[in-house]
Amino acid sequence: MLAARFSNARQPLDLVETPIPDLGPGEVLVAVEACGLCGTDLHIVHEGSIRPERVPITLGHEAAGVVDRVGREVAGWKAGDRVAVYPHEPCGICPSCTGGSEALCPSTRVLGLHLDGGFAQYLKIRADCLLSLPEEIPFDQGAILTDAVSTAYHALTRRAHLAAGETLAVFGCGGVGHHAVKLAKLLGAGRILAVDLEQGALRRAGEAGADEIIDATGASPARAIRELTGGEGVDLALECVGRASTVVEAMKSLRRGGRLIVVGVGTDRVQLPPLRVFVGAELTVMGSMGFSRKDMEEVLRLTAEGRLDVSQSVTQRWPLEKINEALEGLERRVGDPVRMVVTPAASTSDPS
Ligand SMILES: [Zn+2]
Ligand SMILES: [Zn+2]
Repeated sequence: MLAARFSNARQPLDLVETPIPDLGPGEVLVAVEACGLCGTDLHIVHEGSIRPERVPITLGHEAAGVVDRVGREVAGWKAGDRVAVYPHEPCGICPSCTGGSEALCPSTRVLGLHLDGGFAQYLKIRADCLLSLPEEIPFDQGAILTDAVSTAYHALTRRAHLAAGETLAVFGCGGVGHHAVKLAKLLGAGRILAVDLEQGALRRAGEAGADEIIDATGASPARAIRELTGGEGVDLALECVGRASTVVEAMKSLRRGGRLIVVGVGTDRVQLPPLRVFVGAELTVMGSMGFSRKDMEEVLRLTAEGRLDVSQSVTQRWPLEKINEALEGLERRVGDPVRMVVTPAASTSDPS
């Protein structure tokens, strides 16, 4: 089969023919119809700031496809089933796993970091990581629902407990932030303010339902947010960038009693405001990491029911052979991408 393998940072992925993986007990082989490209892939390939556990490794953690065959001891799945893939293989027995927070499992194994991922014609995964992909949801949408959308859903529901009518500011309106705007609308947010540096991202945030668009290139976005909220600030801010400067602006945009959820990941250190402000205003700052299988199930259900529409979110589709061009385009944000996918099953290389 054809696979795009990562060996060294700052070098293109190697497009190579590799054997189709053998299945152990409890494992399933999925023919990958679509796999999303994510900022994480850029951190690995272009920056080298995230390192997979081993190399070479096949990247790609936002996959959907069709079950090709099942290993021994697999019940409930058969060849031909349409599936989306939960990108973690968690241990299943630690307190995080039994508490429904599989993404926090200290021994979880993640596609594209520990396990060969979906930038290949076939993907091997534990059967308990599969979720049924309803007929109504095309594969490319199924792929991006597994990360770009579920991460935003987890942050807004399980972490922020967004209540109807609340005012929300989203800092960074790329993949996760864009879908946070869309989901917040669906979850009944009162007023949504979208902050970004890119005109394309701001325009798309407006299309996704943001009430106010704040261009962060000029003045302080926190000041703009205060002005737009009569000096009050917002109930809730979501930081989807992963930089200290954005986290600080987001904290400054909160009303008294407001809360900030940080979704962006990075290596920056962040300082709290002076304690008389932080404590005096009862501010909350919390992290939000990934999403659970249950989050993904709920996002798939909302989409299948037609309540969540992500049909405009896949802005580009690429054959697997062109993945390096696709990653370049994502890096330089060519065509204001919300999400790009590769479509390995449609690849010219015939494994049979
Ligand atoms: Zn991702
Ligand atoms: Zn665990």
